[in-house]
Amino acid sequence: MSSYKMETKCIQSGYEPGNGEPRVLPIYQSTTFRYTSSEQMGRLFDLEESGYFYTRLQNPTNDAVAAKICDLEGGAAAMLTSSGQAANFYAIMNIVQAGDHIVCASALYGGTYNLYAHTIKRMGVEATFVDPDCTKEELDAAFQENTKAVFGETIANPALVVLDIEKFADAAHAHGVPFIVDNTFATPINCRPIEWGADIVTHSTTKYMDGHAACVGGAIVDSGNFDWDAHAEKFPGLTTPDETYHGIVYTKKFGKGAYITKATAQLMRDLGSIQAPQNAFLLNIGLETLHLRVPRHCENALAVAKYLQSHEKVAWVSCPSLPGDKYYDLAQKYMPNGTCGVITFGLKGGREAAVEMMDKLKMVAIVTHVADARSCVLHPASHTHRQMNEQELMEAGVQPDLIRFSVGIENVDDIIADVEQALL
Ligand SMILES: *Cc1c(COP(=O)(O)O)cnc(C)c1O
Repeated sequence: MSSYKMETKCIQSGYEPGNGEPRVLPIYQSTTFRYTSSEQMGRLFDLEESGYFYTRLQNPTNDAVAAKICDLEGGAAAMLTSSGQAANFYAIMNIVQAGDHIVCASALYGGTYNLYAHTIKRMGVEATFVDPDCTKEELDAAFQENTKAVFGETIANPALVVLDIEKFADAAHAHGVPFIVDNTFATPINCRPIEWGADIVTHSTTKYMDGHAACVGGAIVDSGNFDWDAHAEKFPGLTTPDETYHGIVYTKKFGKGAYITKATAQLMRDLGSIQAPQNAFLLNIGLETLHLRVPRHCENALAVAKYLQSHEKVAWVSCPSLPGDKYYDLAQKYMPNGTCGVITFGLKGGREAAVEMMDKLKMVAIVTHVADARSCVLHPASHTHRQMNEQELMEAGVQPDLIRFSVGIENVDDIIADVEQALL
């Protein structure tokens, strides 16, 4: 980890050109890398030597951007993936196999819920979903003999539940398993879950990190803090020989880099969800201004939330930075400088009024996306979460009338004026 402050890390971390080299991180637009000795190439394939040989496994542009995100989160090792979905899939699959079980906070992004509730179930991995506001005892009761990980989102999309990170980390550690946190909405500018006990952090870089809605991407950061060898029987993939690499043992050979090396060497090798170097280049440009954009998103969102709160047609507003919000205290504890630019609200006219109001918006667009520079809205019950039944919606913290408003970084007066005319 560098000793730079966050603003400096956003700009400087991950890439340091040598004498006469490009000042800006270059796009290594190459699938492959040349070697003069066949023996050296063999050593690379055996993980005996580190180096680039094929972009599906590693690429210098991607590695530099992963290193920047790693530094921002205060981690030990990191990798990029093609999407946030791939990041959350790999983060779990790297340490589970058929017959295993995970514990998840139930307030999750719809895609992650489908992944954990349905897709990995078909692969033999069961998930138990717990209310993020549950007691310590209720959380403990969700663990089984075969539990291998705990998962939650710092600020749930779109429920805006702020996770009690320490409560979940303590429970995970008491049961000898790592705690994985999706930190997409808070970003490391507002919250660094590793400082609160999280072991692994994932991101959909598609959101604030890119920040311009230019490319889909993901990242996984490992703190290097979880002691896999202390719970070796639970994590044989990390602590026993990998026959596909002549019997290397990841924890013995790679120490704090074990988890990310295994995810790269096995999952990326076999499943191939790489981020295109061109996208990593664009992501890096986004990261350079993350520390400027995130506070403005938060400031605008709070102003819009206050406006909505005082509007006669608005039934309720949710914004964890708003005094009186159910998650205000947790937000103050874990992210005192701001939460995110996304807020939610419902209208007194319910679901129909929500759809009508959204259709009247002029500047603020209806899009599936969230968390970029442009203000946008979405009605999760009819869009991202439409596969869920009413009960699943409520468990995920998504009321049927909920409008998700991703407040952008335009002038806040223009944002509020658009909302005002749509509510007339
Ligand atoms: C969008 C999102 C994802 C999925 O990321 P993609 O990049 O769209 O695959 C995962 N988690 C959260 C919290 C998200 O907002």
